[in-house]
Amino acid sequence: MGFEINRFSGEVDDELLCPICSGVLEEPLQAPACEHAFCSTCIHEWISRQPTCPVDRQSITQLRPVPRILRNLLSRLSITCDNSIYGCTAVVKLDALSNHLAECEHNPKKPVPCGQGCGLIIPMDELKDHNCVRELRSLIHNQQQKIQDFQQEIADQRFQINEQKRELYILKDFMRAMRVSNPGMPALSDDIDREEVSRWSNTLTRARVTRWGGMISTPDDMLQAMIKRSLSDSGCPARIVETLMEKCHERSWPAGLSSLETRQNNRRQYESYVCKRIPGRQAVVVLLCDNPHINDDMMADPGLVMIFAHGIE
Ligand SMILES: [Zn+2]
Ligand SMILES: [Zn+2]
Ligand SMILES: [Zn+2]
Ligand SMILES: [Zn+2]
Repeated sequence: MGFEINRFSGEVDDELLCPICSGVLEEPLQAPACEHAFCSTCIHEWISRQPTCPVDRQSITQLRPVPRILRNLLSRLSITCDNSIYGCTAVVKLDALSNHLAECEHNPKKPVPCGQGCGLIIPMDELKDHNCVRELRSLIHNQQQKIQDFQQEIADQRFQINEQKRELYILKDFMRAMRVSNPGMPALSDDIDREEVSRWSNTLTRARVTRWGGMISTPDDMLQAMIKRSLSDSGCPARIVETLMEKCHERSWPAGLSSLETRQNNRRQYESYVCKRIPGRQAVVVLLCDNPHINDDMMADPGLVMIFAHGIE
């Protein structure tokens, strides 16, 4: 809806009026073919019923913004404040109206703090009927309701978790029975485990170690804990996090890596490792599933963790 014309001081050109509501154009849009301009809300409501121009019946397929000159003419008009009936005497340029309304002292809906100590912010026109105790009671009531809803939700979820635990136990018992009665089962479950590891590995990015000399072969507990957290965060299957972390120190590395001397002897083989970056860390995992071509004395199951001071791309 446009602005009532009697809110403007001085003459308003007919070009600036909306043919639908006869007010001064508000957020104007025009029909591209005939260039008639309308308030955004007026024309949208109109074309929702019939897609033609209300002035000349030409069809309207889309609407576009009015030319800048029309916008400029509109923005220069002077208009009284929406709150003039509440005593505001301000007359502002049309393009400054929304800023004025946001701060108008006479706006009956202007949020003001209650002066009696309840701490609530309320619309100015509700101040006279405002009762701190009543308001606070309803606030407490709403919050109690919310707490009850949350408690109910927690109880529901707890129930679901217990149900799932129970199903998991049954499943485990079932698997155990299967394993005992079927000699092929252990191999099958190994396959599933291996599949899970390689699925995780595929989510990691390939890393290139540029300086093998930067390897920290005896990481301290703190560093290990950091790497372990990043491994878990990267989606590493929980059952191998621990085993992998045991393989991050030279004391548990295979013979080919277990001392500075053997590492130096085998240095050339490093280049054939397929390394995956542990996200966010100067560390890589070298997984058995990615490195079937590496000799046993340079590899471990399910893989190795190598931590560096620098030199990973
Ligand atoms: Zn209009
Ligand atoms: Zn038209
Ligand atoms: Zn005002
Ligand atoms: Zn109050």
